[in-house]
Amino acid sequence: MPKHVFKTEVSQLLHLIIHSLYSNKEIFLRELISNSSDALDKLKFLTITDKKFKDIDFNPRIDISFSEQDKILTISDNGLGMNKSDMVDNLGTIARSGTKGFLDKLTGDSKKDSNLIGQFGVGFYSCFMVADNVEVLSRKAGESKAYNWKSDGKTGFSISNSDRDCNGTSIKLHLNDEGIEFANRWQIDNIVKKYSNHVSFPIFLHYTDTTKDENGDDKIESKIDQMNEASAFWKKSKSSLKEQDYIDFYKTLTNDFEEPMLNIHTQAEGTLDYTTLFYIPSKAPFDLFQSDYKAGVKLYVKRVFITDDDKELMPTYLRFVRGIIDTEDLPLNVSREILQQNQVLSKIKKNSVKKILSELKTLSDDKDKYSIFFNEYGRLIKEGVYQDFENRDELLDLLRYKSNKSDGTVSFNEYVENMSKGQKCIYYICGNNEFSLKSSPLIEAYNKKEIEVLILDDEIDEIVISSIPKYKDWDLKAVNKLDAGDDLDDVDDSKKDKFDPLTNKIKDILKDKVKDVCISNRLMDSPSCIVMDQNDPSIQMQEMMKRMGNMNSMPDVKPILEINPNHKIISKMNKMGKTKKFKDTCHLLFDQALLIEGLDLSNPSDFISRLNSALEKSL
Ligand code: ADP
Repeated sequence: MPKHVFKTEVSQLLHLIIHSLYSNKEIFLRELISNSSDALDKLKFLTITDKKFKDIDFNPRIDISFSEQDKILTISDNGLGMNKSDMVDNLGTIARSGTKGFLDKLTGDSKKDSNLIGQFGVGFYSCFMVADNVEVLSRKAGESKAYNWKSDGKTGFSISNSDRDCNGTSIKLHLNDEGIEFANRWQIDNIVKKYSNHVSFPIFLHYTDTTKDENGDDKIESKIDQMNEASAFWKKSKSSLKEQDYIDFYKTLTNDFEEPMLNIHTQAEGTLDYTTLFYIPSKAPFDLFQSDYKAGVKLYVKRVFITDDDKELMPTYLRFVRGIIDTEDLPLNVSREILQQNQVLSKIKKNSVKKILSELKTLSDDKDKYSIFFNEYGRLIKEGVYQDFENRDELLDLLRYKSNKSDGTVSFNEYVENMSKGQKCIYYICGNNEFSLKSSPLIEAYNKKEIEVLILDDEIDEIVISSIPKYKDWDLKAVNKLDAGDDLDDVDDSKKDKFDPLTNKIKDILKDKVKDVCISNRLMDSPSCIVMDQNDPSIQMQEMMKRMGNMNSMPDVKPILEINPNHKIISKMNKMGKTKKFKDTCHLLFDQALLIEGLDLSNPSDFISRLNSALEKSL
């Protein structure tokens, strides 16, 4: 019998699963049933679409039997089955690349870990929590040979030729001391009802029952009971379903242990006939920001499973949505290529996006709940603003930002409702630190005039917000831009003239460190600040582009130094010649303006020696 060695990551994974999922070991049954259900789904699809499988007598079912005495539990299905190479590929390696990341995540509390198991689909291996040895007997549909895969879950596996009456797979677990409790009718029944009630194929339990015959003697009877409901949950009428039913179905669908944040069930009839059931998980799926994230929506046609691997079913920014789309209006043998450009499907997708966004709008009426949602998925909504032009207005209303006037967050709508009369724009400031943004000299004048400024401290905020010119009738303006002071008092020309020689002198000294030096109308307590010219990217944005490797595409644009004509330092400078003290002060004004924006100085030691010399003179 040839012996195959597990790939390293499988051995690692087995070890980790066995040790970290210990308190949840019953989930092994859910995982095996879900694999059987997938194999039945796949075969169902083939029998309808592929001539080769037309003659198969498809009577889908999952059967569970056990023997307490022999310490055996068997889960069988008559699904697609596996041949020898499928077994090597599927049961000896970890199929999905994302699974590698799972190994790193498998730490911390075991409840969280068992959620991850479902997300990564490493389910099969969980049976080694309860079994010392596992045999997988399988025959692939349309093939005559059967194979038996055997493993102790430690080192490797062997595959031998075998026999099986019909296509499908039987997984035979030789239970260990931890697993023996599962060779029990009530345990199995409980676990199936708990996790697999909505699997769409019947799950039967084989057991023996002792009754009395007419003479009062014990009579042992073999019995088979169906344990689950086995119907397409989403097709049930909405009025017959309770909140708890939706939660239960979500758990079977996703293997998530936690309840979803929201469910959205739509049964559309008319020009288009379709049902959708979407969920928003309460915790963001871990692979959300990986390029090989797993698609969250499954496609069914007339209740036949078509695919769970089509990322086009949802726009990428809604990749956290879980659920199903089932339509009567597509042929069963839709190919992947057809799916991509199919009119029916794009219409359903379009309606679904609108529906999800409108439900999120409703959710936003409850501030507390919505803030939980936004903490988890706000970044994706921002992505949406950037990507989805068609739904931009709806998405803009879903954004939330911190502000100088609020401890929580505000929407654009709340912002404009609270605007003072005559205010012309919506103001915002971008950066990477909430604290330094809130104390930035750039917003001093806005604070004093009680004008609200949105605080945008997420890395992607600047890119997203610069793609939004307006919210309804209001322009959006960054306060770190030269002309952002529409609602502030203008500096009058006589003052400007008076300070012209000074600004020129400072510019002369700072040379190519600045694009310009000018008098500010936004500073109250600080002597200086830096802003960018109207169409120039901020320094933070430039730094981000550099980090992303776009160094060459980004011209090196300089900031503008604004000085506060009402500040004592500035009025004293106005009377000075170009002495060393004056020059040092120019540099200190510029460097402190950079520092307060959280930016790095190009030469910190120069800054420190100037600061020390100023201190020395003042002591
Ligand atoms: P996942 O189901 O998430 O892919 P598993 O480790 O549970 O991960 O299963 C690995 C693979 O083994 C499955 O993708 C499938 O190809 C195959 N497999 C497991 N159980 C069965 C089964 N009952 N019938 C057919 N194939 C199966």
